[in-house]
Amino acid sequence: MILNWLESLHADVKITEKCSRQRNYRSTCIVCAQACKLEAISFNERTVVIDSQRCNSCGDCIIACPLSTMKGLPGTRKFDHTSLIFSEAYTPTEKELLIYKKRGMNTIQITDIPLNEQWGFALNETNRILKLLGEKPIEVVRNSKEEKLSRRALFSSLQKEGKQLARSLAPVSWQMEEDEWNLTRYYQELQFYSVEMDKNKCTLCQACFSFCQQKVFRLEDSVLQIQHEKCVNCTACTDICPEEAIRIRPEIKEKSVTVESFFTKKCQDCGHVYASFKKGKEKCHICVNRDPEWLSPY
Ligand code: SF4
Ligand code: SF4
Repeated sequence: MILNWLESLHADVKITEKCSRQRNYRSTCIVCAQACKLEAISFNERTVVIDSQRCNSCGDCIIACPLSTMKGLPGTRKFDHTSLIFSEAYTPTEKELLIYKKRGMNTIQITDIPLNEQWGFALNETNRILKLLGEKPIEVVRNSKEEKLSRRALFSSLQKEGKQLARSLAPVSWQMEEDEWNLTRYYQELQFYSVEMDKNKCTLCQACFSFCQQKVFRLEDSVLQIQHEKCVNCTACTDICPEEAIRIRPEIKEKSVTVESFFTKKCQDCGHVYASFKKGKEKCHICVNRDPEWLSPY
């Protein structure tokens, strides 16, 4: 079984149907492409294309995707129990380190080479956030043992030393499923983004509510709730909104809910029942924008 898992480090990265690009032709999400240093990711009309010749299965895109929609294992990451082993082959993001921290990682292990500048920056930023959250920082520890085994050496060591070694290098808690890279899962009492809706522009068409896979928006009776802690900044709402009424602002704080009241009305032109933030508005937004010569859509 362990051998199967180690072999699966070679597995291709796969995009699942939750990807914003596949769900919405207006999606402008490029997070995975920005994360890929090998420029192996491009986009066609409705999906993400991974160039298998360029992709080295480092997993940076899997970790970066705000909706955690990519399948695969980040092959470059190695752990020794609760230590992430420093490697110049990649640089972890703050998001990645925060997730590892919640899963039990508390140190970064170095041998003779000190952390490079990029790792140092990511670690400082992560520790700054952890301090805000009142949590212990991630520390750097030195290990004289040579833990950075190449894949070939790892397989030969495994044959020699058996399952015990494999367990220490690949404990179960580091085998992440595709939906386990979602930060909101680990910090449920916090919000990382604030969702700002401009009530003067919003027509309550509800397109954003349908496209938000995190279910940030909740309509109940005559009240709209915006549950900021669920937002992962996937930009599906800002991409779909025809009125440009939504803005996502990065902000780490205790989770909060915005509650907005709205009115339910009957359009004077077409008779359609619609919702509006504005009390005095007597036509639905379709009739407001419709050429008066056109027939009513209802
Ligand atoms: S509120 Fe917008 S940006 Fe946040 S998760 Fe929902 S769709 Fe994505
Ligand atoms: S898509 Fe835009 S206009 Fe429609 S409900 Fe959302 S914020 Fe309002």
